[in-house]
Amino acid sequence: MTGTSVLEEWKIKCLVPDLPPVDDVLPYLRRMEEARWYSNFGPLVTEFEAKIAAFIGAMSPDYTETPHAITFSSATTALELLLRVADLPEGARILVPGLTFSATAACIAITGHTPVFADVDSKTWDLTPAIARAALADGRIDAVLPVAIYGYPIDMQAWAAFKAETGIPVFVDAAAALGNQPAHPDIPVAFSLHATKPFGVGEGGLLVTANEALADRCRRLSNFAFDNGTSRAIGTNAKMAEAMAAYGLAQINRFSSVQARRRHVLEAYVNRLGLESFHPMTASHVPGTLLYDTRGNADKIDAALTGAGIQTRKWYFPPLSEHAAFQTLDKLGTDADGHLPVIENLKTRLVGLPFHAFLSDEDVAMVCAHLLR
Ligand SMILES: *Cc1c(COP(=O)(O)O)cnc(C)c1O
Repeated sequence: MTGTSVLEEWKIKCLVPDLPPVDDVLPYLRRMEEARWYSNFGPLVTEFEAKIAAFIGAMSPDYTETPHAITFSSATTALELLLRVADLPEGARILVPGLTFSATAACIAITGHTPVFADVDSKTWDLTPAIARAALADGRIDAVLPVAIYGYPIDMQAWAAFKAETGIPVFVDAAAALGNQPAHPDIPVAFSLHATKPFGVGEGGLLVTANEALADRCRRLSNFAFDNGTSRAIGTNAKMAEAMAAYGLAQINRFSSVQARRRHVLEAYVNRLGLESFHPMTASHVPGTLLYDTRGNADKIDAALTGAGIQTRKWYFPPLSEHAAFQTLDKLGTDADGHLPVIENLKTRLVGLPFHAFLSDEDVAMVCAHLLR
């Protein structure tokens, strides 16, 4: 099967990237060409970092000053470098939700640490401070890496309180939550700029932190750990290219309209299906991916939609602890079968519906008609 036929196969696609049109990007690319500066912290990356830091700072009430926003090649590399500079003990046990994208656990394992899987809250579907506190009573935890699941924001103040109370560092994977997730000066947070996320540029990641020294160390590691021409540590290459920053600058200019179009599609769903079958934050926030609670009929509804040419995704199932790469790792709070019970239950409930800015009202009506059948 060719790539094209895969794309043409669906009547309604689940996810379609919404990146700036080439014409919007061209003025920035021309600046890049005139400067002949294509990577290594060039003027477009510098301008993009300043603008996105101001944007995130403005939506983060706990920041009184503008945060540092450092670009990377992806959210995954941002998290890897963050964990490398975080002064954690060797082989640190880091608590993560069992329900997330594989990168959340992979960035821990690849930096020599050990992911430990926790269950999630049955209402918000994410690892909460209450779950982390219970995990502490269960065994050693050196850090926590909660996830803003499906792009819905998590409670940063509650995590800051957890950190202050326990002394355990917290890092947040908010990969799909740029525009929704406020940052907090006590808690470094990573965002993804991948094409499939609400703020897409192609490939890219951001680390947002109040800690300038931490930001500088991460940035240096992203460029071979060069310091005056020699490597002080073992670095890597995880920089964002100028061409991606050109997309980023064009995306900032249109992001409020991107969000408005996504909001319109969300409202079309909510008008037909009600709020009760969605994440509680759906009333106030437009998610990255839209999961519908089928109340135990996930497989049946998934098959019915797929049969009607409507593409669905069961984001992030099976859970990470069932992936071959992670299945030997510790899980805390398992049931008699060795499963994390809330995640196991959500597996039977959640289906990812088509959700992107190019859905018409008729598309949404068709999806809902099949759902309600
Ligand atoms: C998309 C995603 C990532 C990975 O982001 P990249 O920029 O593609 O590396 C990590 N964690 C979560 C929760 C994600 O949704």
